[in-house]
Amino acid sequence: MLVGGEWISTPATRPVDNPATGDVFTGVPEAEEEHVDQALRRARAAQRTWGRLPLAQRADVLAEIVRQVDLHAEELARIVVAEQGKTITEARGEIQGVKSFFDFALSQKYRNVGEVVAPSRPGAQLTIREEPVGVVVAIIPWNFPAAIFARKVAPALMAGNAIVLKPSEVTPLSALAMARVCQLAGVPDGLLSVVTGPGRSIGKALVEHPVTDMVTVTGSTRAGREILAQAAEKIIPVSLELGGKAPVIVFDDADLDLAVQDAFEARFWNCGQVCTCNERTYVQRGVYDEFVRRFVDKVRSLRVGDPTDESSQMGPKVSAPEWAKVKEFVDNAVAEGAKIEIGGDRPDGVDEGGYWFAPTVLTGVTNDMEIVQHEVFGPVLPIIPFDTYEEVIEWANSTVYGLTSHVYTENMRVAMTATDDLEFGEVYINRIGPEEVGGFHTGWKLSGMGGDDGQHGFERYTHRKTVYVDYGPQR
Ligand code: NAD
Repeated sequence: MLVGGEWISTPATRPVDNPATGDVFTGVPEAEEEHVDQALRRARAAQRTWGRLPLAQRADVLAEIVRQVDLHAEELARIVVAEQGKTITEARGEIQGVKSFFDFALSQKYRNVGEVVAPSRPGAQLTIREEPVGVVVAIIPWNFPAAIFARKVAPALMAGNAIVLKPSEVTPLSALAMARVCQLAGVPDGLLSVVTGPGRSIGKALVEHPVTDMVTVTGSTRAGREILAQAAEKIIPVSLELGGKAPVIVFDDADLDLAVQDAFEARFWNCGQVCTCNERTYVQRGVYDEFVRRFVDKVRSLRVGDPTDESSQMGPKVSAPEWAKVKEFVDNAVAEGAKIEIGGDRPDGVDEGGYWFAPTVLTGVTNDMEIVQHEVFGPVLPIIPFDTYEEVIEWANSTVYGLTSHVYTENMRVAMTATDDLEFGEVYINRIGPEEVGGFHTGWKLSGMGGDDGQHGFERYTHRKTVYVDYGPQR
């Protein structure tokens, strides 16, 4: 791991396996608290110099990161596939996303970095400056191990901060590879460290350390809640991007070809492991049967297989516990009365050691079932009929999450009224994600409080300082 500019190993290592086969192919260091301390102290020292550089100079370093990512794009994509299991096509897309995050961040070299407020007396000036927060700790999940690294590191560095990042225990390699790329691009020693280890010990130590000025987390609501409590003692800013339970709402008048295609892509992308994924689809009664028929037909033709194969459309789940969690959701739904239209278990013809789950469609589901209320994060879609606008909006808003939502209708009044009524940080009308770097990916309710993207995300990595100057009465 990269600690304060040095690559170090530890006697203890944690195995990393390939989700497609279950084979362990490498191990990474298991950090101790001394590494946390070292990384954060070096970060503090490096930040003092970096934070005083003009934005244009920081942007030059970020531009070089973009160039280095480009040079190593295929290698980075293959690392993502090896540890995370998404298809090579998806992984290449993820690496393009990495570049976009750095690209957006470096565009901030032209931003206004403060405001001048009209003073209440003559010969005075009152300015509100934007300054770096200092040392940022980032904690990230396994579903986009390279892109979420970039989503946090790019704005943090551009805003003048140092950053210490802890990747998921399951997918540490992409963050380590990205750290190497940043080093090659000339990121100063100590400004960026990647510490590998478990959340509840090493993640916690990073959050609670006296040097840490801010914490940014992407992960489950459970982890977000624990981290918020850890940070409360020090009263430091915490940005949380947490779980989701995105609905897709299809009204009678929708373009059904488009709705079926989008609902399909938004469910099975990355084996259903995206916080914005279509977790539940509500279809108005008049087109319900037709929608289900077309959707199941599409699922039948989905090519599940070796993620390194260019023709594969879906890879395995990321890990054995994640596989077991999804299976339990499906079994519980069936016990509650759901019908499996297709899938429901391991698919045929895949490596027996891998964490493969067949794309699954459930009908006979009601809104109060566990499978509709809780985040599944796997390739399983419940499709639920609804009758009225009021009913479906109430159901869409009925979960504890509020990240992403989707609406399909040709009626502008319905689309815009739904946009008003949906309690979500993101609404997509007649389209799906991925979200754009200039937008603001932010959750409501238990989906968190925060966001890293766009202007609003960038501002989270800054502090305000109000400066009062008296330069004397006018001569
Ligand atoms: P997770 O919560 O298990 O782990 C996320 C990270 O938090 C890991 O690095 C883990 O080690 C660390 N962690 C866990 N408990 C901790 C603690 N008590 N203290 C400090 N660190 C701790 O999540 P996961 O399974 O890796 O990722 C899947 C989750 O991430 C899903 O819920 C998904 O919706 C969410 N997610 C959200 C977004 C978003 O933008 N809102 C994006 C991607 C993923």
